[in-house]
Amino acid sequence: VAAGPSRLGEGAEFDLIRRFLAEPSDAAAAATAGGVLVGPGDDAAVLADGTVVSTDLTIEGVHFRRSWLAPEELGWRACAAALSDLAAMAARPLGVLASIAVPAGERTLAVPIMAGLRAAADAAGAALLGGDTSRSPGPIFLDVTVLGHAPRPVLRSGARPGDTLWVTGRLGGAAAAVAAWLAGGEPDAEARVAFARPVPRLREALWLAERGVPTAMLDLSDGLAGDSGHLAAASGVRVVLDSGRVPLHPAAGKRRDLALGGGEDYELCFTAGPGAAEAVRAAFTAAYGIELTQVGRVEAGSGVWRMTADGGLEPMDRGGHDHFESEGE
Ligand code: ADP
Ligand code: MG
Repeated sequence: VAAGPSRLGEGAEFDLIRRFLAEPSDAAAAATAGGVLVGPGDDAAVLADGTVVSTDLTIEGVHFRRSWLAPEELGWRACAAALSDLAAMAARPLGVLASIAVPAGERTLAVPIMAGLRAAADAAGAALLGGDTSRSPGPIFLDVTVLGHAPRPVLRSGARPGDTLWVTGRLGGAAAAVAAWLAGGEPDAEARVAFARPVPRLREALWLAERGVPTAMLDLSDGLAGDSGHLAAASGVRVVLDSGRVPLHPAAGKRRDLALGGGEDYELCFTAGPGAAEAVRAAFTAAYGIELTQVGRVEAGSGVWRMTADGGLEPMDRGGHDHFESEGE
């Protein structure tokens, strides 16, 4: 582990991030010497004492539209999304800092938004530690920094050939809601809840890590196809997806593309050594009421591949969310 950047997968958003991070700096070297274990490129940064920290930005018109969410839901969702990066590291949440900007004429909007944010923090056992409040010239901005502790952080870089690839829960629910809104309709109740009230898999991640199951892990914020590419790049391996096995959220119907390319499920995606996840699967479902599903395997190589009907392999189309390749939400 080092404070230098971990490798990221494909996409214009990540090409841009790579440009910020490419230059080795004296400060990065000093940070490593001073006890930074994991720098940029993973779901969160990690210090030598197990402190885990990450930040996540939510902007009106980019991540949500006002007509989609009540103010409390907006706060909940922004905080849950940020906390999900602690889950991805198998960190126990400690606190959150929240920066919010609202239009001057609507400043009282900050109150229900922050109430929703606090509800998500409370549910995770995280205290509100501070933040910043400002006027916005237009859209609502919400930036949430999360702080946690991981005695044994699980990185994106630990996957090895021979591992299997797993996800928690069911995918595509939040994307089904967004698809319904963008088509001018209203999502059904289950899809709406998946988008508005995501629940970060914090306890689930700790449970798996305590049993030594995940060799590498991240949370699904941009879609399984794209996010598994980050895991592949960080670990220096190739991921082979068995897309037919991907567990679909009931609201996604038969839309496998929503599960593979749709973002914001905030489920966990992890790799495990041979037999390790199978051995805990039933106990996991008994404890948390959600499934662990194998969705692929890890091989030597690079990139994300999918199995074809005739048993061959073809490169996977990412189809995931990229702020600089796709329009809108
Ligand atoms: P996640 O979806 O897990 O929140 P992102 O895809 O947003 O992660 O970011 C990928 C990685 O790039 C993370 O490690 C993040 O900290 C880093 N990163 C993103 N934007 C910046 C930036 N402006 N400066 C430094 N690091 C960044
Ligand atoms: Mg993440």
